[in-house]
Amino acid sequence: MLTLKHGEMETTIKILHLEDNPIDAQLVQSVLKNANITFEYFSADNEKTYLNHLKNQKIDIILSDFNLPDYSGTGALLYAKSNYPTIPFVFVSGTMGEDAAIESLLNGATDYVLKNKMERLVPAVHRAYNEVQEKKVRNRVEQECQKLSRAVEQSPNSVIIADTKGIIEYVNPSTIKLSGYTKEELVGRKQQIFSSAENPEDEYLLVWENLNTGKMWQGEFRNQKKNGEFYWESASISPIWDANGKITNFVTIKEDITERKKLTHDLIAAKEKAEESDRLKTAFLNNISHEIRTPLNAIVGFSEFLNDPDLDTNTRKQYTDIIIQNSDQLLAIISAIVSISTIEAGQETVTPTEMNLNSTLKLVHDQFNDTARKHNVTLNMIPYLPYEDRIVTDEIKVVQILTNLVSNAVKFTNKGHINFGYIVKNNELEFFVEDTGIGIPIDMREDIFTRFRQVESTMARQYGGTGLGLSISKAYVELLGGKIWVNSELDRGSTFYFTIPYVKGRKTPVAEKTTVKGTATKRIASKTILLAEDEDSNFKLMEALLLNLNVNIIRAITGVEAIQTCKSKHVDAVLMDIKMPVMDGYEATKKIREFMPTVPIIAQTAYASSTDKSRALACGCNDFISKPFRKELFLSKVNEYLYR
Ligand code: ADP
Repeated sequence: MLTLKHGEMETTIKILHLEDNPIDAQLVQSVLKNANITFEYFSADNEKTYLNHLKNQKIDIILSDFNLPDYSGTGALLYAKSNYPTIPFVFVSGTMGEDAAIESLLNGATDYVLKNKMERLVPAVHRAYNEVQEKKVRNRVEQECQKLSRAVEQSPNSVIIADTKGIIEYVNPSTIKLSGYTKEELVGRKQQIFSSAENPEDEYLLVWENLNTGKMWQGEFRNQKKNGEFYWESASISPIWDANGKITNFVTIKEDITERKKLTHDLIAAKEKAEESDRLKTAFLNNISHEIRTPLNAIVGFSEFLNDPDLDTNTRKQYTDIIIQNSDQLLAIISAIVSISTIEAGQETVTPTEMNLNSTLKLVHDQFNDTARKHNVTLNMIPYLPYEDRIVTDEIKVVQILTNLVSNAVKFTNKGHINFGYIVKNNELEFFVEDTGIGIPIDMREDIFTRFRQVESTMARQYGGTGLGLSISKAYVELLGGKIWVNSELDRGSTFYFTIPYVKGRKTPVAEKTTVKGTATKRIASKTILLAEDEDSNFKLMEALLLNLNVNIIRAITGVEAIQTCKSKHVDAVLMDIKMPVMDGYEATKKIREFMPTVPIIAQTAYASSTDKSRALACGCNDFISKPFRKELFLSKVNEYLYR
């Protein structure tokens, strides 16, 4: 049976036949049927029906008479060609002359069959149909190719096609955009053009060897752009085979993973940092426990000895010195812990005031001179500005930084000297603390500014310390707008430097920082002091400190009592505790200020940060002393406000 096939598929074809003569129409149908062509037949004998069928049916082939009473074959051909150009058009006519046939072919007719040669109809239909099907397949393939090509061209990934030797034949726009090379610079070059010097040549050769055996390769490269910038790519390279199974090309698809790599790297670094920080904190806790227990042991032990009634004055003095020295040490540790917590919580602020730098230097010198001498070390202070010059900065912080650095220099130096001071350089004050001590290994010179970091970290530690001083100093220096660094040579010594902006203060002669030994015991006219303090031991301490001054003391143990006393009695000054039951010192001060705007009120509190100080001053306090306070400071403040 002869069937109309396209490829292997048997198909029913839709034939539209434009023919006014029913006998001829019948003839055409029977010729096709006799050839076993499976078809659906649509007949038209006028233009309207012809156009309708074309519009509504998916016609595969048009057969048409040449002469029609109401329409012309040429009109039907021209209409079909301009509106349905892919449908083959075959004239089946008895009257068509050779000229008309040629013209029809020129107008786009596929073929013509003369009615007296009907045996040509079946081959003409076959050929027309096959031609159309092939054209359709070709179109489909072209469309597929265009789709693929668009996908590759528009892909956000780099796509490169190379020959079997790795020579580039094609690159898509993403490759050009990422690498910075032009198409002309890439085509004809080896893929190694993207390689950074870090990817060894051997590795590339191995990749290509692998590929030539037909295996796919996947991996990561650290490549280099035309401008020299490095980037990471995840690449997969696979062979392309021809119909005979021979490798003709390689296609490389690459993705820019620089950001992803950076993110992973950052995450790993953050994890390591967290683990390191955890380790350091554990070490710190062990360390801190030791550092707190050591002075406490001395304080507890020697305090008990003081009860001995037979103790001679010299020994008693010796013991009290030890207790004071260890208390100072304990206080320094606690202050360091509080400072680091405030710094880490981001709550540390700068409170600039006028200060006399040289007088501060002298205080620090006096504080450490004895200890330095005991270490056989000479402690020299080297000021730069004239003595009466003042600067504007956060005094508490500058003193703390200097104290940390000089205390370290004293701790780590056993012979020679320590010179400390400052110079003025480019609108900055550059401080230095130079020692002839043990020095710092080169690999630790940055690390020691990180919290809890110490050169010695084993149990066999020779020098005490919490590992907080330098990190606090660094944070303070940076808050003040400067920087801190160290130069050091092992076994020869270290010099720590830090800078702060140089802001000049008023050039008024200032009294040297008072150590007020004289004023402390001065006999003065009787005055009344209100001591607002709920803790008995603290009250007794202040009472004892004020014993030698000619003052009356009235005690209040709540803020409310303090207000009542101020209302009912004459009061010359108030020492106001902040944390008290019923009403705290802040509130009480505010209320007292409503009816006693000028009476001196000095906050005395164990809240010791600069924020606490600012808050007390904002509530109306004239001054602020943090507990534990030194006798000298306490008395000098009381004197200052009672007799100003
Ligand atoms: P701490 O002194 O309490 O251990 P710091 O943060 O002040 O803490 O110092 C950290 C570490 O830096 C010290 O433990 C010590 O190893 C090193 N260091 C600091 N100053 C000096 C110095 N002047 N000479 C030698 N080493 C020092």
